[in-house]
Amino acid sequence: MLELNDTSLLETRAYVGGEWTMGKETFPVHNPSTGELIANVADLGVAETKHAIDSAYLAKKDWALQTGKERSAVLRRWFELLVKNADDLARILTAEMGKPLSEARGEILYGASFIEWFAEEAKRIYGDVIPGHQRDKRIVVIKQPIGVVGSITPWNFPNAMIARKVGPALAVGCTFVARPAEFTPLSALAMAVLAERAGVPAGVFNVVPSSDAARIGKEICANPKVSKITFTGSTRVGQILMEQCAPTIKKMSLELGGNAPFIVFDDADVVAAVEGAVIAKFRNAGQTCVCANRIYVQSAVYDEFSQKLAARVAGFAVGDGLTEGIVIGPMINEAALSKTEAHIADAAAKGASIVTGGKRHELGGNFFAPTVLAGMTSEMLVANEETFGPVAPLFRFETEDEVVELANESEFGLAGYFFANDIRRIWRVAEQLEVGMVGINTGLISTEVAPFGGVKQSGLGREGSKYGTEDYLEIKYICFGGV
Ligand code: ADP
Repeated sequence: MLELNDTSLLETRAYVGGEWTMGKETFPVHNPSTGELIANVADLGVAETKHAIDSAYLAKKDWALQTGKERSAVLRRWFELLVKNADDLARILTAEMGKPLSEARGEILYGASFIEWFAEEAKRIYGDVIPGHQRDKRIVVIKQPIGVVGSITPWNFPNAMIARKVGPALAVGCTFVARPAEFTPLSALAMAVLAERAGVPAGVFNVVPSSDAARIGKEICANPKVSKITFTGSTRVGQILMEQCAPTIKKMSLELGGNAPFIVFDDADVVAAVEGAVIAKFRNAGQTCVCANRIYVQSAVYDEFSQKLAARVAGFAVGDGLTEGIVIGPMINEAALSKTEAHIADAAAKGASIVTGGKRHELGGNFFAPTVLAGMTSEMLVANEETFGPVAPLFRFETEDEVVELANESEFGLAGYFFANDIRRIWRVAEQLEVGMVGINTGLISTEVAPFGGVKQSGLGREGSKYGTEDYLEIKYICFGGV
């Protein structure tokens, strides 16, 4: 049984229109470390999702009428409650998702930082006054909330992916229907418990857990009362949602797959690069969309880097995230393990060598041994697809031009990282990488103060920062005539 200071945070009912409801069916949520059942959660269907959308639609007028300062105060209270309950929220998160408790706590604080940031931004939704084009004309531009936002989020960051979306949406006056991933609904419901306590009005934030993503997704995309979809997940599902949104011309924010290059140049601080790679690759057992997926190392430092990285990786403590000191938790499910195995088998068959790991962990279950592969080439699956597992594949390269070309040889363009010291090279490479975010001499770039998002097939829109409210606002131009 999960030990919590406040057991009421372990909520299994859906939250719709300010009411807690069990619905007709339930679905089980399991702990990926132990396989144990944590809870049976309300399994909502299409009718209940429609009801949630109706509730959000009803609530949007009053919520939008509140001043930015009023909405800000509510979000601020929510932020404070999230921080105050961070330990319990982290335990719930680790139990349903597997990541080590310290990382889960980090995620809760990271998620909360978006609620805090956008509580502050709520007061700063400025318009414009434009000099008129004729003597009797005056032009004003105002920004208004888009309306009801439908959100679909993945299991790898069960709290933060919702927080990054609901923060700006509520701040500017939108209302929100969240459909959390079927593996991790408990973190979303715990957020709703605290939203209610913070005074978020009924209908403004709704959580519709469900086991059938496709049916609920279809309804959210097709429903004319929803004005915008915000999604984090795979490019494949992003494409489906885009198609489903076409008939009602919905606005979309999409945070999709990545296949991040991580480049170590020969002028880099190799020790720092190893630490950067550890964070960029192995955080969340390699299950993040900004994870380094292809590690390119220049010839002169290749051997040193691969030895040092392999030594670090071989020393990782693997196990149940709730146990103190664990660095690598389980993978989310069998499908994730099989994909990781398939990527390693493909690389090995095409000539790569396994420096460390390379197979399921001796603990069994969903655990995979942290892996370093060397001698990688562009023909291997890992070069083209996100592995989403604890596998660091090393590619050797000779020149800057060559590696920039290799790095950009991807339909994805979310994050890119490189380690170097020559300032001219740093500037050149940062400009040339076809990605939305660049980490230079760092493997950790996520923060609420900077715009998160990708180019190419990695998505549309940005989350966080002063740009983060734009995705939830419409611009209205108002022309005064005969002045
Ligand atoms: P991941 O590999 O991170 O699970 P997915 O894109 O498969 O990425 O899933 C992201 C979210 O999208 C999850 O909540 C999942 O349940 C949901 N999802 C999957 N398929 C669909 C679909 N056809 N329509 C709507 N949501 C979907």
